[in-house]
Amino acid sequence: MQYAKAKEHDGKYKEAATAYKKAKDYESVIRINLDHLQNPEEAVNLVKETQSVEGARMVAKFFQDLGDFASAIQFLVMSKCADEAFKIAQQYDQMEQYAEIIGDQATQEDNNSIAVYFENKRKYLLAGKFFMFAGQYQKALSHLLRCPVTENGESVELSIQTVKKANDEKLIMHLIDFLMGELDGMPKDSKYLFRLYMAIEKFTEAAKTAIIIAQSEQEMGNYRNAHDVLFSMYKELRERKIKIPNEMNQNLMLLHSYIVCKIHIKRGDHLKGARMLIRVANNISKFPAHIVPILTSTVVECHRAGLKHSSFSFAAMLMRPEYRSQIDVKYKKKIEMIVRKPDKTEEEEPLDACPFCSYPVPQTQLDCPECKQHLPYCVVTGRHMLKDDWCNCPNCSFPALSSEFKNLLEGEDTKCPMCAEKVTINSLKPVPDPSIYLRDEVAVPAVPDEL
Ligand SMILES: [Zn+2]
Ligand SMILES: [Zn+2]
Repeated sequence: MQYAKAKEHDGKYKEAATAYKKAKDYESVIRINLDHLQNPEEAVNLVKETQSVEGARMVAKFFQDLGDFASAIQFLVMSKCADEAFKIAQQYDQMEQYAEIIGDQATQEDNNSIAVYFENKRKYLLAGKFFMFAGQYQKALSHLLRCPVTENGESVELSIQTVKKANDEKLIMHLIDFLMGELDGMPKDSKYLFRLYMAIEKFTEAAKTAIIIAQSEQEMGNYRNAHDVLFSMYKELRERKIKIPNEMNQNLMLLHSYIVCKIHIKRGDHLKGARMLIRVANNISKFPAHIVPILTSTVVECHRAGLKHSSFSFAAMLMRPEYRSQIDVKYKKKIEMIVRKPDKTEEEEPLDACPFCSYPVPQTQLDCPECKQHLPYCVVTGRHMLKDDWCNCPNCSFPALSSEFKNLLEGEDTKCPMCAEKVTINSLKPVPDPSIYLRDEVAVPAVPDEL
């Protein structure tokens, strides 16, 4: 120590620093590195290594003199000088950095000071966020609702977090009013209402909202979006072991049939495609944006697959004056000919055993006339499930006919048609006894606890 001091006195800083280090006087090493050796890296390393409070303060001062306020704040926070750090943040407009640096260490009081700072700067999003952290939920919400709703919806997401934390009926109602457009006459995207209900665990309302969202997507012809909204809602409800509303089940099944028919037509399996198109066409009012194109595809695909009678029936439907003029010229002649020279030969659809009672039921019929059960459907073919050909998607656990799923994955497709996640053939495990999936009366079985 004596030696170090003597060397410092003589201006031999390098030797002094080495000697101070040997004497374990780290603050002096830091000081000499900063003041004399122009070696801030060494000083910073030593502060981090030793967690020296005084050292951190010196490093902070060094960065402050350089005008690097973010680093200065970081070292002040490290040296437990939160007040000083806050002052610098305030003075040099570095509050966001400050907030990020103190992060989880911030007390409610800290958060409140940060919030007030942003409030004065009229930065309402940040003010709202930090009032929320400070537990001042009413203030937080009123700031957040002043923000314009941007593409990423950050202010709305924060509002949802706020009312969830507040757990206050009045604030929840206020946010619902905002989302419905009661406050400014502008209803917001219903996905937010859905997320709010999910956040506050009002699952029945969330499910209703999801059905409404999906319906409007479906009406606009965005079938994949509608499908995905229902599918993700379905997953949420299932995870919480809440009964899936029938309407949701039914709509998802129909949308899924539409998606599946495209897959099979692309693969050149026109019979499977035609069967699914028939199901969709029988519910054509649910696809109002594409009535004529869907009916046209149904006629063409059924004709190709040898389902002549079905092809004729839908062709006749297309001859209605309101549809006839909209038929694509490419198909018009063909469709008119199918109607003029009706060929009503069509083999009956093959029958497969009902998974509940083994009664023979047409492959794509989803209710059993014998035992009156709704039958779970295969996500690959849309056919009803079979007890002895059962597997579940390893990702979403929706059921599929094992042989059909393998068949699909042997081609170019690599994804589950329901969840759109990658699935490999090897990950498909046959379920020798699917009776656990057949306990419920729901159209798609719930996932048992053991999965
Ligand atoms: Zn049955
Ligand atoms: Zn899946």
